[in-house]
Amino acid sequence: MEKQATFSDLTVLWKRWSEYRVVEQTFNRRKFRYLVPVPGATEMTYNCAEHAEQMVADALELGRQLNMEGADQDCLCADFAARYGLLGPDVELGQAIGEGPDTPPPFRPVGTAEYGEDMELFQKEFKRLYQHLLHANGGEKAPAGELIGLLPYRLTAGRTPQLIWEIKSLESLLRLTYAALITAPNKTLKTCKNCGRVYYNSRAKSKFCSTRCRNVYNVRAFREK
Ligand SMILES: [Zn+2]
Repeated sequence: MEKQATFSDLTVLWKRWSEYRVVEQTFNRRKFRYLVPVPGATEMTYNCAEHAEQMVADALELGRQLNMEGADQDCLCADFAARYGLLGPDVELGQAIGEGPDTPPPFRPVGTAEYGEDMELFQKEFKRLYQHLLHANGGEKAPAGELIGLLPYRLTAGRTPQLIWEIKSLESLLRLTYAALITAPNKTLKTCKNCGRVYYNSRAKSKFCSTRCRNVYNVRAFREK
């Protein structure tokens, strides 16, 4: 798989748990829904930059599915979190950590078993990315503004200096990789001509997410002739 030169040396260690669920909790007399690890789930640390392009495609596909009627949104979000972890939106600027036993999940240290994220905000991130992609691909509805981020970087010394982004959260990695892919001259984020799924493929000719979809499409096209 072709890699973005900008991210070739990047390592972003991120925590994910084997299973997530949605819990309801009242905070300031308001009811919130949080995505949290299931008790007894296993913790894993991995380099989320390694397959960042695949993650972006999966995130866009999640955004697409969240927009579909009848989708089990909680389940879709829990699946994404089990694959990649939570987003960590407050990590870059420094998280506010609460002390008390009633501290809501977003104010617990990121990556721990007690940490969780607001479902509404979690879903918004994916829907927004997908809206941006749709519009970039000629869709009518404009996305809600630009995507912004705050990231430190360093430029290495030597004969072939490298620009390295100092990424600390999954959310930053997701946004920056998406930004790099959507602005690249060759389109690598594709929509399957058969099932509509968003997928990543660096080959210009690719039109289907899988061999199965290509076959199904071709058989149907043949029958319709
Ligand atoms: Zn497909």
